[in-house]
Amino acid sequence: MIDNQFTSTAYYQSVAEEKISGTHCKACGALHLPPRPICPRCLSDDVEWVEFGGKGVLKAFTVVYIAPTVMIAAGYGRNNPYVAGIVQLDEGPCISAQILGLDMAHPETIAIGAPLSATFVERGEGEAKKKFLAFQA
Ligand SMILES: [Zn+2]
Repeated sequence: MIDNQFTSTAYYQSVAEEKISGTHCKACGALHLPPRPICPRCLSDDVEWVEFGGKGVLKAFTVVYIAPTVMIAAGYGRNNPYVAGIVQLDEGPCISAQILGLDMAHPETIAIGAPLSATFVERGEGEAKKKFLAFQA
């Protein structure tokens, strides 16, 4: 894996490689995503990298009409809303991400518990180009 620094920088580096990397606490077995250098459950720093499979279910979501700058630049906003959701991975941890492939004209049809698969989207130009974790319905 990247290195032994369990930082957000290392996490985003793994996303750039289209991987979902978190930490596994060797003391109590807890899994964390994004990675944590110290286990929030038992406070052990005996953690190691773990790669998640990318399958999960939708736990919560909101439809975003007033988008942040990075999403406006990607074409989202009042006339093209997007879904930000909380996804619970099959391994247990939850992560927030954009959810793709939903019927934005009928957000009432979006179901909690819907199965999702990880995907990676590229945003920005030149030096600012960056990959983001998203999930596909
Ligand atoms: Zn622990």
